[in-house]
Amino acid sequence: MSIETTEAAQLQTGLSPAEILQPDWTGPSLSPSRAGDFKTCPLLFRFRTIDRLPEQSTPDQVRGTLVHAVLERLYDLPAADRTPDAAFDLVRPSWERLLEQDPDLATLFKGEETGGGTQAEVLIEVQPGEAPVLGVDDFLASARGLIEGYFTLENPQRLEPAEREQLISTVVDDRLRLRGFVDRLDVSPDGQIRVVDYKTGGAPREAFEAKALFQLKFYALVLWRTRGVVPRVLRLIYLKDVEVCDYSPDLEELQRFERTVLALAKAIEAATAARDFRPQPSKLCGWCNHKALCPAFGGTPPPYPEVVPAQRTAATSIAVEADQ
Ligand code: SF4
Repeated sequence: MSIETTEAAQLQTGLSPAEILQPDWTGPSLSPSRAGDFKTCPLLFRFRTIDRLPEQSTPDQVRGTLVHAVLERLYDLPAADRTPDAAFDLVRPSWERLLEQDPDLATLFKGEETGGGTQAEVLIEVQPGEAPVLGVDDFLASARGLIEGYFTLENPQRLEPAEREQLISTVVDDRLRLRGFVDRLDVSPDGQIRVVDYKTGGAPREAFEAKALFQLKFYALVLWRTRGVVPRVLRLIYLKDVEVCDYSPDLEELQRFERTVLALAKAIEAATAARDFRPQPSKLCGWCNHKALCPAFGGTPPPYPEVVPAQRTAATSIAVEADQ
């Protein structure tokens, strides 16, 4: 029976024993975000993982966090109640909860009034570090717009996710812990797994598609290693483009991917030992917070930290966050 025909079934919940998150693990760990950073640009990896330079959240990123929260809570409702209106009603309370957690988010917005233009256009134009230009009401309306699009892609009344915002983890090759948060897992009665990731960013999708697929394969690898099942479908839901992309990995591909991740971890360890993290300019530089410090753009990185606490070393760092 396929996942597609069993969406209404509530299936598995909870972690398998192998998914207990290795609380005593002291070896190297890697998240898909940090692995993706190193692949994109070793210097970006250094700035984020070793220097731990602060990054200014953009309205796009905050909107992504908000929409993820709403979609997660939507599935707390009984299936029949998962309507667009119910989802819209979750937007403001979810926003207020985010504000409680981080009152500084309010500084992203100039007030309650819109500055004109469509909200989507305004959001896309906002780049890291730019001054806030949005009103909160406009911002919340733009989040509702993404959620409205979601309902054209999936029918949440017919879905019963097995897990949401789930931390998954495994150790591969007895030497590297892989871990990350999965937006949603659907599991069919016969155990087939679909991994679902919501993408909300305003950046051009083609610029990030390879990174998104890398992230999903990373999750697929962890799930295969912990549950012994190759996920049937890796699903990317692009809420801004209102489009779904499904991909089906196979076992050989995940085995190759595991070797790739292990090689990447070795490369990170070598770069850390040599303190050699080179810039790798690409079109993604347009979304980099640290251009001013980047030699590729005439900048100078800060001195390499002389004493790097264990949790900040490249090989042992984990910074798991939602990729939006
Ligand atoms: S600006 Fe580009 S090359 Fe420089 S650190 Fe950022 S991503 Fe890397």
